Amino acid sequence: MTVSGRTRRRFLQLAGSGAVITIAGCLGGGGGQQGTETTTEEMEDEHEEELPEGVSEEEFERGPVPEPYRMALSQANEQRDPEILLSKADVQFQEADDAFEAGLAVEGTNCGNCAEYIPDINGDGFGACAKVEGYVDPEDWCVLWESIEEAEAES
Ligand code: SF4
Repeated sequence: MTVSGRTRRRFLQLAGSGAVITIAGCLGGGGGQQGTETTTEEMEDEHEEELPEGVSEEEFERGPVPEPYRMALSQANEQRDPEILLSKADVQFQEADDAFEAGLAVEGTNCGNCAEYIPDINGDGFGACAKVEGYVDPEDWCVLWESIEEAEAES
């Protein structure tokens, strides 16, 4: 499940620790090594995703999600039922870019434009899903993806 996503999130937790990371590179000519310092602020500029403050990896993956999402409506008006959610592993949940590269997802499809997505309510950058447990980034994806238009036409 979400191997690359989890890796990226862990990386960002480290990046948020305040450390300055030195990337050593071998420069030609004199054969010496010279480090290039990258501040955590620069790294966070490049990677905006990290676990919400105070949320463990387990909570992020399995929930519970914050109360406002628990029984919220998705953007196609499907009500979330916390008693019948699927696990992320069940639905090949992963970053949308990875799913596209793996030939699983149609380009441009992601949680953010899925009928089941419940957009960010509390300002932490993550939403939830009416079908899948845990926190959901709009740039994630799973095999249940359905367009909002299709879902609305069916209802
Ligand atoms: S793609 Fe999957 S996890 Fe994402 S919102 Fe849709 S159903 Fe939920």
